[in-house]
Amino acid sequence: MHASLPHELPAFPATRAEALARLHAFLPNAGQAYARHRNLDEGPGARTHVSGLSPAIRRRLLTEEEVARAAVQAHGLAAARKFVEELCWRTYFRGHLEQRPELWRRFLAAARQAERELDAQPDLARRYEHALAGRTGIDAFDFWVEELKATGYLHNHARMCFASIWIFTLRLPWALGAALFFRHLLDACPAANTLSWRWVAGLHTPGKTYRADAAIIRRTSLGRFRVTAPLAARAAPLPPEPPAPCVPLPRWPEPDPERRTGLFLHTEDLSPETMPWSLRFAVAAATDRIGGDPSALKRRHAEAGLADACRRAAEQFGIDVERLPEDRLEEAMVDFAGRHGLWQIVTPHAAVGPVADRLERIAEALAARGVPLVRVLRAWDRRAWPHATGGFFAFARHIPELLAP
Ligand SMILES: Cc1cc2nc3c(=O)[nH]c(=O)nc-3n(C[C@H](O)[C@H](O)[C@H](O)COP(=O)(O)OP(=O)(O)OC[C@H]3O[C@@H](n4cnc5c(N)ncnc54)[C@H](O)[C@@H]3O)c2cc1C
Repeated sequence: MHASLPHELPAFPATRAEALARLHAFLPNAGQAYARHRNLDEGPGARTHVSGLSPAIRRRLLTEEEVARAAVQAHGLAAARKFVEELCWRTYFRGHLEQRPELWRRFLAAARQAERELDAQPDLARRYEHALAGRTGIDAFDFWVEELKATGYLHNHARMCFASIWIFTLRLPWALGAALFFRHLLDACPAANTLSWRWVAGLHTPGKTYRADAAIIRRTSLGRFRVTAPLAARAAPLPPEPPAPCVPLPRWPEPDPERRTGLFLHTEDLSPETMPWSLRFAVAAATDRIGGDPSALKRRHAEAGLADACRRAAEQFGIDVERLPEDRLEEAMVDFAGRHGLWQIVTPHAAVGPVADRLERIAEALAARGVPLVRVLRAWDRRAWPHATGGFFAFARHIPELLAP
């Protein structure tokens, strides 16, 4: 059998209401069935063993905490343990990168360096173009490239095998693969994406790589792929890097509930109604478009989520939400604060990545006019992240505490 993309491509929840509906539809499968079958990939439009919630969770249309608690309520912690652990991989990766932001900067530098190598090495450039065009002759890989571009999603096992084939069979720079994922995945997350690619390459857990295996791909794809082209027989770790320095976790001052306050919404956390604040907002703002260089599909998904969050914030807090120009956001935020006589602007904390960098620049522009940008960290992150300094299994021991009432 040869796999092809279905005519009707799967859609992923782009609003909180859609995400909640998807969560409730998936909950019956989040117990022991998930533990048994989650590695099986029936293909786009046919998946029943995984939730497809990652684009919503990544932008916090739903939080890891509410999804984990719903699964535990439905099945009990013992039966839901695997599903909760997978959710917690995301929490772990985010906490890990938050304390080692240098790894994000190294990824960006490695991607720029690899782009320069493409100009200097025609053979590398040719292999890269074949990979991007889905013309490697490895049927599973070529299908996944098309699926990634057409749907903005790949099953976890496909992602692991894709990254492994990219690095060890096609011998392409890992950072170019991570950049390709970052551009296309609807759930593209600086932490989960960068650290998962590093994990496959043997840079996260030193010496431990992931080697894609043809027989396993045939089995987990339920025979959709033949994988007759040879895959790398060995997956030797990439040369080790010096450890990244560990920095303290952010500690933001509390907002002052007595002062006139504006709210700023961004795509790192799109559920203002579940944020741990009891503040009266005078007005809110968000950008009119998302920045960076995402695929058209990823842009549409993120912007739909942001528009949904703006609607919900307007309704929940009874306020206007202004959309400010993305290309001169710092200046527009200063103007916004001045026009509304705001003493402070409050926003959800953004984990390491482009949005956090932008918030920093906005904070500097506002501080120059005496207006603090107060970032608020969710309790889940504050409790979990300190445990994310080592490996995942040490972190996972704290899951029961995290879920305590
Ligand atoms: C190379 C590579 C790159 C990846 N890049 C990303 C990324 O940019 N963003 C992202 O959210 N995930 C990433 N993942 C992790 C994982 O593949 C996706 O989260 C998962 O496939 C999402 O599908 P789902 O929602 O159906 O998952 P489910 O199996 O239904 O899991 C439920 C939720 O748990 C979380 N989750 C599950 N598995 C993982 C995991 N291994 N690591 C982190 N979180 C997990 C997700 O939020 C997911 O929605 C990557 C994995 C690999 C190997």
